[in-house]
Amino acid sequence: MAKRWKLVGGRLSLDFVNTLSWRGRVTPREDLVTYADLLDWSAAAGIVPATKKTSSAERETTLTRARALRESISRLLVAWSGGQRLRRSDLERLNQELPRREELYLRRGKLVWGAPAHAILGPIAQCAADLLTEGERERLKSCGSEECAWLFYDESRTGGRRWCSMADCGNRAKARRHYDRKRSVATTFTPKSER
Ligand SMILES: [Zn+2]
Repeated sequence: MAKRWKLVGGRLSLDFVNTLSWRGRVTPREDLVTYADLLDWSAAAGIVPATKKTSSAERETTLTRARALRESISRLLVAWSGGQRLRRSDLERLNQELPRREELYLRRGKLVWGAPAHAILGPIAQCAADLLTEGERERLKSCGSEECAWLFYDESRTGGRRWCSMADCGNRAKARRHYDRKRSVATTFTPKSER
């Protein structure tokens, strides 16, 4: 079943980090529950899938590696944008997943070139590495909704983008402000008879 992925981060690696939704909540929402989810997301994000036939064990480890890479990228980018020290173990994981060439396999006794399942992580790792080395850290932002915490790269001219998406968190915040304003008017107005 195809999910509707919201690719609003402006960078592949940021959209990947955003596959864990509501990071600011006690229980965030995992959007990469199965390997099929990972494949579905990578297709939506435009990543070419594995060309080698994959075993079920390989699919499982790729999903685990994908989630681990995602958390490393998330920590690296948040630390980087805050001018904090980057964790060596996160950098190591990023390095591990940087793109490699196709590998050689035996298929029915013949040597063939093929990209393994985990090769779909390569472009994501590359994108994160590019951001860390060439990005402008002021442009990396977290959604104005603390609960949402989706990351995005602000490419607006003014650099004033606040929300992952105006249609989601932006509108929710606007509705809440409207509600709060109405409520504060209602509570500050005390009828004379009750004074
Ligand atoms: Zn948001």
